[in-house]
Amino acid sequence: MTPIKRTVSAELFTKSKTYFPGGVNSPVRAFKSVGGTPLFIKKGDGAYLWDEDGNKFIDFCCSWGPLILGHNNPNVYNSVISAMANGASFGAPTRLENQLAELILSRISFIDKLRFVSSGTEAVMSAIRLARGYSGKSKILKFEGCYHGHVDSLMVKAGSGLVTFGTSSSAGVPEPLACETIVLPLNDTEKLRKTLVQFKEELACVIIEPIPANNGLLLQDKSFLSCLREWCSELGILLVFDEVISGFRVAFGGAAELYGITPDIVVYGKIIGGGLPVGAYGAKSEIMSFVSPDGPVYQAGTLSGNPVAMSAGIAQLTTCNQPKFYEDQEARTKTMVDLINQHAASKKYNFEIVQIGSIFWISFAGKKRIQDADAINPDMSKFNELHGALLNRGVYLGPSGYEVGFVSFAHTPEILSMATSLFCEALDDIYS
Ligand SMILES: *Cc1c(COP(=O)(O)O)cnc(C)c1O
Repeated sequence: MTPIKRTVSAELFTKSKTYFPGGVNSPVRAFKSVGGTPLFIKKGDGAYLWDEDGNKFIDFCCSWGPLILGHNNPNVYNSVISAMANGASFGAPTRLENQLAELILSRISFIDKLRFVSSGTEAVMSAIRLARGYSGKSKILKFEGCYHGHVDSLMVKAGSGLVTFGTSSSAGVPEPLACETIVLPLNDTEKLRKTLVQFKEELACVIIEPIPANNGLLLQDKSFLSCLREWCSELGILLVFDEVISGFRVAFGGAAELYGITPDIVVYGKIIGGGLPVGAYGAKSEIMSFVSPDGPVYQAGTLSGNPVAMSAGIAQLTTCNQPKFYEDQEARTKTMVDLINQHAASKKYNFEIVQIGSIFWISFAGKKRIQDADAINPDMSKFNELHGALLNRGVYLGPSGYEVGFVSFAHTPEILSMATSLFCEALDDIYS
């Protein structure tokens, strides 16, 4: 297999390194873990991407999740153009904010009110502040292996010792702040119960990705999430679901709808903005009444509820809200995943794809359902080989073995069947 040409990308990368740290505006884009020059993308259409060297790929990164309808979806495109024709931003309320809120609130019954912001990180940060402001408590609890954006108090990993007060996982996060965050392993009900009981007077909230999908795909037992819900209620601790990836992805109402377990505060991002920058947090009226200007928890944004971004979200979520949309997404994804897994099993490759809805993750740990971050095989060399072998065959995955892949509405059965063959070829290549 001849390697793809990266001449133009390499030139652009040389330039970009003089402008941005690592040449990029978000770290994983730099291809550091898989090696080589990151591809500079020129355009996307449907399930495909084209880079600056003219290489064409079937795209399973989909901008890291937002593009559930694929690139350049005509409904989203037209909606954005007509909003843009009326001006980009006003810093005043518009009808479009009402429309997107109505679409969401009419389908998701455990929240009464929302606040739109401009990213997942901003939404998480605001939700944490709300939980603290509402409860009057300051500690928060997160799980190892869950990502919640680059919020200071969540850039925290488990410390050593019996009581897992966190220690910061990024320079620039003060230790006293990291100490306000407790970190527990996923799927361990015994530790969870003990910690919740011990810290109930101090814990404002527990935050979790109900479908942890930023560090492998660590599907939890439903019983773990049920216990978490039950114990938070019993002990007076708010439960926050970070559904930035899973919201509008595994079901319209995200993991909460899929599992029938509801949080007190929910956080959305990615899909909600149709490929433009939107995040949101929501809760029952009583909790949301604490948000300014109704209440004492301050939170604001110059571009929050931006009309062009709202219009993209409206078009995208209207399409997702059609009957059978999610069943169809899942069925197409499952067909591809099952065929690749069958091929890998027949050849005895130590490899398996884990899937939920239209999310998939490539595990080289040789066992299917890994449920906690420690069980991930830290040797990513096989993934890195596969990543290169797939690029050379015209399949684009996110450039890190810890990241999941996404199937969009634009990935037709024909395109997925082609991707399946290319995947199997690439596997044969790296295991030969
Ligand atoms: C992507 C993501 C975030 C951060 O969202 P940004 O828009 O990148 O700031 C937070 N939580 C989860 C679960 C995510 O997947």
